[in-house]
Amino acid sequence: MSTTATSYRLQVPAVPPKPTPGCPSCADLARRRAQAAAVGDYSQASDCNIWIGRHDYHQPPISR
Ligand SMILES: [Zn+2]
Repeated sequence: MSTTATSYRLQVPAVPPKPTPGCPSCADLARRRAQAAAVGDYSQASDCNIWIGRHDYHQPPISR
């Protein structure tokens, strides 16, 4: 039996994800993350990290 803990991608990664260049959503999230961290709102900052990490889900389906 394995007792290995399942790792959930929704949890805050050890290394904050980088916003994808050229993506307005990522740029906006990165800006909000910086503002949240500046005021000590790490819950909000974590949310931004999650969404930046899920770039594949928030990017427009047709990009060109
Ligand atoms: Zn993005």
